[in-house]
Formats: sequence, structure tokens, C-alpha cells
Amino acid sequence: MLQAIRTTSAYRIIAWPVASTIDLILPPECVWCSASLASGELTCSTCHKILAHRYYACRRCACPLPEVVPNESCPRCHDEKWRFSRTLALGPYRGRMREAVILMKKPQFESLAMVGGKILGEKVLQELADAIPDFVIPVPNHWTRRIIHRTSSAEVLAQAVSRQADIRLKLYAVRRRRITSKQGMLNWSARRKNVRGAFAIRSGKWMEGKHILLVDDVMTSGATVAEISKLLRSAGATRVSVAVVARGTGTSQN
Ligand SMILES: [Zn+2]
Ligand SMILES: [Zn+2]
Repeated sequence: MLQAIRTTSAYRIIAWPVASTIDLILPPECVWCSASLASGELTCSTCHKILAHRYYACRRCACPLPEVVPNESCPRCHDEKWRFSRTLALGPYRGRMREAVILMKKPQFESLAMVGGKILGEKVLQELADAIPDFVIPVPNHWTRRIIHRTSSAEVLAQAVSRQADIRLKLYAVRRRRITSKQGMLNWSARRKNVRGAFAIRSGKWMEGKHILLVDDVMTSGATVAEISKLLRSAGATRVSVAVVARGTGTSQN
């Protein structure tokens, strides 16, 4: 928590002249588990390992697969007509990764979202090296939710991905036109219906012929990113990829 406060801009402006003295009195802590840190990192090595761990997954939807299953035989997406072609995720939505996603939704854990976005940005550079996206766009919240929650993890993640991978950010390119029910409360066909027509593109000309990276905290049914991808492709984007912190695979998980 102390480290979370340390990364706010107000702290950096007010406290930088005496930062080393403050570090002596209040030693830096991991922004996730609060373990003491010796270095200037934001997370301890244990938490960093969880976020940066690799798993065998479907290239199209990032669903975790047993290693004996060929990538193109993913049971989750082989019947889907999604308009995005790749999904990158830091891990499956369970255990501590699920905990991280839930914490990232809170304003006091923006630093944790920044770390997640930085690692996601490194993954983009490695795994999309053949075609680095031209723009990063976060999946938007409705503006009323943005005010109530005082943060948006998708926005913080997208900013960090943009910075790390040096990809231009279009923060407000897509807007949520209406408040939708929480996807996690609905069955999968209701999720598709829930997000149909829920988004709009603010401007489109710059998108023609471009590769767009959509960023969100979690993807489960894929209905939200599929709906936005459809709009982006209709507006002229030639390719859409998705990057999320965690890939959920079951209705009971979120
Ligand atoms: Zn930690
Ligand atoms: Zn898949």
C-alpha cells in the first residue's frame, strides 16, 4: 500500500527531495503483497513471477490447453466467428491471478495494474513481433462507472502497454453507449446479447488499414472483445489483437 502511494504523482512532486529519508523510515513494499523490497521495483520477485509466468495456450483466444492438444483444436474458439485473430494473456483467471485482476479494479491498486500492463507490453513485443499493433485501445467502461470506481483498470493497463511497447494509445476511441449488466452474472448467450450495440467508435479515419490492440483486465466468453472487434473491423482496421491480464474459462469463475 505504501508503494502504491509512492507512485502517485502528488507523492512524487511533494516528497522527492526527501525520498531517501522516507525510504529509511517507511521501507518500500510490494504493491501487491506488501512484502518489504530492497530495490526500486514495484513488486517482489514472488509476485512478479506470478504475473510473468508462461503457460501453454491457444494463440487465438489464450485459453489454457493441455500440451497434447494442438493449438488449432482449441475447444473454446474453433466454432467462434470472432473478428480478432490473436489473444495474449498473462495467465488463467484463477488463484492469485484472479486476485490481482480484482485488486486492479481499485484506485489504490493502480500501481499493480501498471506492473501488469508493463509485463503485457513485453509480451506484445515478443509474441506480436511479426506485426506490432499500430494503436492500443482499452475496453471502455460506461462514464458513470468510471466516476463511481475512480479508476479503470483497462485504461491503466492500456497506458502501461502503450508505454512499454511504444505503441500509440487511443484512450477514447471506443465508448460504451449504455450501462451493461455484469457479464459474469450471465450465461454465455446472454453475454453476447448484453453487449450487442453497447459500444460505438468515436472516430474512424485513422483506423483504416491498421492493426489494433484491444486491452482489458479479463476475458471469459470473449463476447465484449468480439463485439468491439466487429466495430473496429467495420471502421477499417485490418487486424485486431487482444491483450488481457487473465483468461477466464468458466461461467462460475467470474
Ligand atoms: Zn509481492
Ligand atoms: Zn482458442
